[in-house]
Amino acid sequence: MSFGELRIYNSLTRKKEIFEPLHAPHVGLYVCGPTVYSDVHLGNCRTFTMFDVVYRYLSFLGYKVRYVRNITDVGHLVGDADEGEDKIAKKAKLENLEPMEIVQRYTNGFHDVMKALNNISPSIEPTATGHIPEQISLVERIIENGYAYERNGSVYFDVEKYNQNYHYGKLSGRNIEEQLAGHRTLDAQEEKRQPVDFAIWKKANPEHIMRWHSPWGEGFPGWHLECSVMSMKYLGNEFDIHGGGLDLQFPHHECEIAQAVAGSGKDPVRYWMHSNMLTMNGTKMSKSLGNVIMPAELFEGTNALMSEAYSPMVLRFFMLQTHYRSTMDISDDALKAAKSGYLKLINALRTIRNMDYENTAEDIQINEKAVKDIQKSIDTIHKGLNDDFNTAVALSGIFNLVKKVNTLQLGQLLPAQLGKETFELLKHSLLRISEDVLGLQEETPNLSPLIDVVLDMYKQAKESKDYDKVDALRQEAKAIGIVFRDLKNGSIWAYEE
Ligand code: AMP
Ligand code: ZN
Repeated sequence: MSFGELRIYNSLTRKKEIFEPLHAPHVGLYVCGPTVYSDVHLGNCRTFTMFDVVYRYLSFLGYKVRYVRNITDVGHLVGDADEGEDKIAKKAKLENLEPMEIVQRYTNGFHDVMKALNNISPSIEPTATGHIPEQISLVERIIENGYAYERNGSVYFDVEKYNQNYHYGKLSGRNIEEQLAGHRTLDAQEEKRQPVDFAIWKKANPEHIMRWHSPWGEGFPGWHLECSVMSMKYLGNEFDIHGGGLDLQFPHHECEIAQAVAGSGKDPVRYWMHSNMLTMNGTKMSKSLGNVIMPAELFEGTNALMSEAYSPMVLRFFMLQTHYRSTMDISDDALKAAKSGYLKLINALRTIRNMDYENTAEDIQINEKAVKDIQKSIDTIHKGLNDDFNTAVALSGIFNLVKKVNTLQLGQLLPAQLGKETFELLKHSLLRISEDVLGLQEETPNLSPLIDVVLDMYKQAKESKDYDKVDALRQEAKAIGIVFRDLKNGSIWAYEE
């Protein structure tokens, strides 16, 4: 089955482009991972979930994706600048632990959250500390090519020199000439030639605990270096997609391009993708601003701004309701609405999964309008996903299918009125897109057999007209978010929407 052409908005060209992999059916996808000095917040989760959908949709289309997402475990300094403490080393000192204990703890926590959100593990999850020799050799190549200089054991990227031959600022659109001309002069003790230069290797001060031998003495790599090295090591000198949050576009990704070009003469990335920020009251959710909500607070219902607990799947559904290039504001109301939408979807998935095509009567006419509606909705879903992974549009198509499933459940529409092909297409599309592409699934399917037992008790109580028991069972079920529905051909249970 052909799903049409996929278009991706390329941040580099600022255009939507038809996706043409360099080595189809293989696709290389690199996503900047977390800096593991603290737990990820919901903002981080948005970006990682968004790229999980990119990975899932590309796989759904039949591509064999090598998905690389790194772990930053050294080199990211407090303030994201070239001076200051390493974020991980700082936390280690504070807690009197080894830096690698900090790294392990928050990597484990990150994995737990990704699992709860049903984000698929990347194919490779390389760490910055595991690639120090490769980073040193890239620094050497950049120096050899004349785009970096050493000062007192640190190495800086020469932005002005680079910009004479290439274009520093091509990704972020920043005008480097203005910055070069208008900048303050540097203090005598500063090592950089220009304030815009950035460190690719830093000398370790005596108190700096994370340090490695290098041709320039003991030190550690600059933050931007790891992604240049690891993306090219695992995906090649040219690869398809590089992604991350919009806040990484500058300086992180701009510097990555400069390093790769300065080292190898070529920009390795074909499509640059950036997901927009999760905000609260219009302000970016960020650790430095202190306005973060942590996943655990949301899942356990301990966040003061939230009236109840929201599960990981509700959070995922909420995130998919907005296209990834738009900002998205989180609030209790928005999550409440997402919860209701998610449960509607899950109820429909349960219904259609358990429904089989049957045609007992011979004189049943095909309902042409319903067939057309279903085809149109499936079309909407694929058009949405093909239009730069527009999950919001895809969800609108999915909800049209959900409506059809509900009419099937109520017996207002019969599978036979759709014909076998359309019925199977509806079933297949709804389940595969929701579960495989969007990663939305029932959270407690293991409870179903138990609820089935309670449903049987409910049916018996109804049959024997024991209405007190019927009420009591209804209430007990409601307490765990379950309702009984009495349909034409019997009673069923569903999640309370
Ligand atoms: P960090 O660990 O801070 O380097 O961030 C990990 C990822 O989360 C990066 O891709 C960031 O761009 C992304 N990120 C950080 N804050 C937000 C936010 N408020 N909304 C969406 N993504 C974010
Ligand atoms: Zn990166």
